[in-house]
Amino acid sequence: MDYFSLHHNAPEVSFKEAVIRGLAPDKGLYFPSEISTLPQSFFDTIENLDNITIAFEVIKQFVGSDIPETDLKQIVREVLSFDFPIVEIEKNIYALELYHGPTLAFKDVGARFMARCLGYFNGKETSPENVTVLVATSGDTGGAVASGFYGVKGVDVVILYPSGKVSDIQEKQLTTLGKNIFALEVDGTFDDCQTMVKKAFLDKDLFGKRKLTSANSINVARWLPQMFYYFFTYKKLKGTEKKFVFSVPSGNFGNICAGMMAQKLGLPVHHFVTGTNANAIVPNYLKTGDYNPKPSIATISNAMDVGAPSNFIRIQQLYANDIERLRDNLSGYSYTDEQTRLAMQQLFSEKKYIADPHGAIGYLALKEYLKGRENYLGVFLETAHPVKFLDVISKEVSSVIEIPGAVKTILDKEKKAEKISTYLQLKNYLIN
Ligand SMILES: *Cc1c(COP(=O)(O)O)cnc(C)c1O
Repeated sequence: MDYFSLHHNAPEVSFKEAVIRGLAPDKGLYFPSEISTLPQSFFDTIENLDNITIAFEVIKQFVGSDIPETDLKQIVREVLSFDFPIVEIEKNIYALELYHGPTLAFKDVGARFMARCLGYFNGKETSPENVTVLVATSGDTGGAVASGFYGVKGVDVVILYPSGKVSDIQEKQLTTLGKNIFALEVDGTFDDCQTMVKKAFLDKDLFGKRKLTSANSINVARWLPQMFYYFFTYKKLKGTEKKFVFSVPSGNFGNICAGMMAQKLGLPVHHFVTGTNANAIVPNYLKTGDYNPKPSIATISNAMDVGAPSNFIRIQQLYANDIERLRDNLSGYSYTDEQTRLAMQQLFSEKKYIADPHGAIGYLALKEYLKGRENYLGVFLETAHPVKFLDVISKEVSSVIEIPGAVKTILDKEKKAEKISTYLQLKNYLIN
């Protein structure tokens, strides 16, 4: 499988090179040059397959010969060592809980897959050169990447996070591991962290000193495995006559774009819905036809505080830059913090379900789309465990949240982070 750059000004590369590079040399995102639909027999008999087999069948064309089948199957097995429960919330509405992995957010799937691929490639080198994964986080990416890459040979991880703008649990998840994981606490916003990371990737002084790669969802090895759980959901809910709709709370639009790839592989999805917070770039685009990225706005669903969604260009590619085709497949709605809080409260009091702020937005968007539509079955992605957002969940609800064991132990650990405020400090840190 080859990948081309969506800026069309760089050579095609194999899976391996796309993973190691992260971004193409012309700064474009990589995209698969061919996508083959899975055979009908796969969908007809999917209920007889276990999750590992399904995931392997889904991902193998995207990896090609860069990882032999037995090794790829082993990677997939390790990645998927936790559950993906589907919970009925009300008639025709289900929550797909993606937070049962080690850092309690869906990003575990992509981060663990990418880490194992990089580890595999390094292990094959006779004189491996250390790779540094450099990543900016608004909260959940950092923890998932830290946990996914912890102890992976030949890979160092440097995580930048905005001081005071991530939750306690999120901060502990990325500052307490040690070993090959290094945290930098940035005096600034998430956008500042992101800007510093981008600058480092372009900095010629760093070339030859540090081999840098990215673990944000621009990396194909983080983006593509997110297809897996759309297939798992279909396997569990298939057999209905109803039309399938997925509602995905979105920030960088990597998760929903993976769902759209799953659809491209033949998964019978009728429609996608996206819910955003005040960072309503995509819903506004669907409404007006004008694509207007902006600086991000801080909200209580902080993992979606993105003003320039990096994966949107991949969605454009999937629908041939045709807004009408996109509108046929995607509806988008945005919500204020107040609406999000109210939804969490109502889900709890009326449905006995505890949602986190991101999942609550997915639920709201799904309800809005299903209004007046009959014969649909909707699934919203519950992207993080509510315990990660205790500070923004009402006391009434948060007091009944059971704190998972893994979180209890992490809270007692000592935070280790270096404070920085300028790009020069980051650069010096990377050089030394
Ligand atoms: C990252 C994240 C999102 C947004 O996912 P994208 O792929 O960036 O759209 C939503 N919810 C949670 C909890 C997240 O951590």
